[in-house]
Amino acid sequence: MLVAALFPQSYALGLPASSNSLATPRRAGRALLCAGADDILRSLHTTADAAEEQQRRLHRAALAAPASSSSSGGDSPEVHLVGVGPGDVELLTVKALRLMQAADLVLYDRLISPEILSLVSPSAAMLYVGKESGLHTRPQEQIHELLLQFAQSGRTVVRLKGGDPTVFGRGGEEMEYLEAQGVRVRIVPGVTAAAGIAADLGVPLTHRDFADAVHFLTGHAKSGCTTPLGERYEWAKLADPRATLVVYMGLATLPELAPALIAAGLPADTPAMAVQDGTTASQRVVAAGVGDLADAVADAELKSPTLIFVGSVVSLLNKRDDAAAFGDALTEIKTRAAPVRVLTADGAQALLASVGAREGAADERDSRVEVM
Ligand code: SAH
Repeated sequence: MLVAALFPQSYALGLPASSNSLATPRRAGRALLCAGADDILRSLHTTADAAEEQQRRLHRAALAAPASSSSSGGDSPEVHLVGVGPGDVELLTVKALRLMQAADLVLYDRLISPEILSLVSPSAAMLYVGKESGLHTRPQEQIHELLLQFAQSGRTVVRLKGGDPTVFGRGGEEMEYLEAQGVRVRIVPGVTAAAGIAADLGVPLTHRDFADAVHFLTGHAKSGCTTPLGERYEWAKLADPRATLVVYMGLATLPELAPALIAAGLPADTPAMAVQDGTTASQRVVAAGVGDLADAVADAELKSPTLIFVGSVVSLLNKRDDAAAFGDALTEIKTRAAPVRVLTADGAQALLASVGAREGAADERDSRVEVM
């Protein structure tokens, strides 16, 4: 087997090869050289073999773990809180897609892209419940009540949220309210903006040479239930050169946030970037030292949604872009390097069909769908 050929020690010990490959890339490289390409090619096997073998490997754990069910097993009202990722339609989970196609009623936010909305079942009723900055289109309490009424009507209710529903998405509040009213809430995680955008730009959130921790912060100015930004965090703890900071909703408060970090000891030349419309065709990236980022963002006139990253991992951004040398100068990459791929409604149906057909598929490779 390939795994055994590449990682003989981990395989013999029953360790997952991936963790070994992350921890000791040099050892993996040596093993690869020793094994030789022919040996590796001979040891390739099919997806069915791999699944069967993995099943055997996990057998003991599966027996020990209690069986989990993904259905309520009854007619009690339910709401699905579904994360759809930061914008790139291919970052949807298969579970999100399945629920979007099964929904009777969909409540959606401002950050959900039109491409993603077009994948919802055409027979579903759609309701916009987004909040614009400064414009409170619909109070949160009203959203809670709508969700409750729809769920009690027995329909399949899907609440779509950008990114992950539990990361600065008020998913926790909606869940608490609904569960207190006897509605079962099921959360479908999504790729949160920090993870999706960093990955798209080739910036690792942690890296053994740069950062041992990641902090997700909100730069949101004081609202009903949060303390003012200046008092919200222990800045001395956040001003850690070995941590990556990711600031959600921080565009307006960046001129306040960056000086707070610098005053707490973070060097002003710590690499930082602001990314507007991450993972979409209109993505824009502005990079500068944290001390200069607010001015650079203002010059570039970035708009919401923008995510801010601070930390030495951001220096890796420019290693991938020859034209953009990181330094004192402002770097602006106007659009994504790669075209955004769009999953059409037909593609989504085919993807779901292929997932449903997995068990009976004679040849797994034939059932895979190429998405556009
Ligand atoms: N639940 C979401 C976050 C909602 S808060 C998640 O897990 O990603 C909204 C903030 O998220 C925005 O103000 C912005 O800071 C960030 N954000 C979400 N999607 C983004 C995108 N595509 N590009 C840039 N920032 C984004």
